[in-house]
Amino acid sequence: MSRIRLPSIDALLADCEDLIHEFGRQQVTRTLRDVVSATREALLNSPDQLAPSGSELIEETRTRLTARQRPSITPVFNLTGTVLHTNLGRAVLPDSAIAAMSVAARSPVNLEYDIAHGSRGDRDDHVEHLLCELTGAEAATVVNNNAAAVLLLLNTIALGKEVVVSRGELVEIGGSFRIPEIMDRAGCRLTEVGATNRTHAQDYRNAINEATALLMKVHTSNYEIRGFTASVPESALVEIAAGHGLPVATDLGSGSLVNLADYGLPPEPVVKDVISGGADLVTFSGDKLLGGPQCGVIVGRRDLLARIKSNPLKRALRVDKIILSALEAVLRLYLNSDQLATTLPTLRALTRSPDDIEKVATRIQPSVAHAVAQTADVRVTACMSQIGSGAMPGDVIESAALAIKPHEAGHRHLARVVDAFRGLPTPVIGRVHDGEFLLDLRTMTDPESFIEQLDKLAL
Ligand SMILES: *Cc1c(COP(=O)(O)O)cnc(C)c1O
Repeated sequence: MSRIRLPSIDALLADCEDLIHEFGRQQVTRTLRDVVSATREALLNSPDQLAPSGSELIEETRTRLTARQRPSITPVFNLTGTVLHTNLGRAVLPDSAIAAMSVAARSPVNLEYDIAHGSRGDRDDHVEHLLCELTGAEAATVVNNNAAAVLLLLNTIALGKEVVVSRGELVEIGGSFRIPEIMDRAGCRLTEVGATNRTHAQDYRNAINEATALLMKVHTSNYEIRGFTASVPESALVEIAAGHGLPVATDLGSGSLVNLADYGLPPEPVVKDVISGGADLVTFSGDKLLGGPQCGVIVGRRDLLARIKSNPLKRALRVDKIILSALEAVLRLYLNSDQLATTLPTLRALTRSPDDIEKVATRIQPSVAHAVAQTADVRVTACMSQIGSGAMPGDVIESAALAIKPHEAGHRHLARVVDAFRGLPTPVIGRVHDGEFLLDLRTMTDPESFIEQLDKLAL
């Protein structure tokens, strides 16, 4: 073992001044030790190999330290065809929201301070009036996400009591959010009514007793029940609840502040309509169709919101100044809904015409074809995008894609293409369909930098 002669850590450290300045002595020492011991081991396993020089060891140390320095959260090209992709961070924010976040990050702000009166304020004040104006609700609050909104609502309104929900609406979203489990954690008892495919008004009526605190409707956002189905419209539910002095809450999941049909998109429930339809409380996500930062919004009756806001759990679920700043900026865009399809990136992506997308596809096809020429063919094809994040499960929107098809059939060849695109400096995430790798260009916002990195494609 002693035949392997490598420089001592101290000797190497003496030549690492720049690294020590950049990364700190502790990190550099630790990494040098790792490199030296890995090298020693490698040499023991293949004794014929030449021992690296001190400067080679330092270079390897530099490579490792630099690699560690790269942020773990990194931009990707979302060409999956799912505009609001939960795994890829959902909504992309408008510049005004990014600017507002940056201001709030950089400086103390009046988060809970009433400047006009020099007194304590409420962090909800910054967005509550906007949310009320845009939804017609009396009051509003904001928490970490929609799951938190539902949890807080249930825990406030129905702690130790019963909540009536249709069996057709006991949804699971993204694995860990399941209505029955949230109910349980919120300290409520779930009363399931009806059947998976059919629930009638009488089912709700029969379920109500002294222990009932709430009737709840959950938007079945990531699936559709088709065929022999029946559900109770919101208006009928409101009437039944009112007859018993009970509130109705609706978990809209995505919900929209504008009517998507006005923008030529498949309709999605509009928060304002649900409120004017008589729902007492409505919850929805900030980073789904709303197109804002991750948060959950509860809007509804003033008296119920007052109870929700004073629940100690609210403190545990509240959002920070950065999220609130972004949300405020996004809500302001809604005040001018004529321009929304231009100003809000989510709506901009959703309303892009297939022709427009196809033009981009046609323009970048030659570059992609050139980059993969050894391995695959590339053609422009029509495809279908989806909104994602549970909005409109059955509805898809026409789009255009590049379809990359390996010369040789088989999973292995396709996987190589997929891996190569994912391995680019800005990873490109597409989807596999019918033996082809599809890059849906609906969400392509920067074709120039997409093309620029293609020469790094390791195929
Ligand atoms: C998405 C969704 C949720 C969870 O919302 P998050 O903001 O992801 O916490 C809850 N309920 C429904 C119906 C949803 O669609």
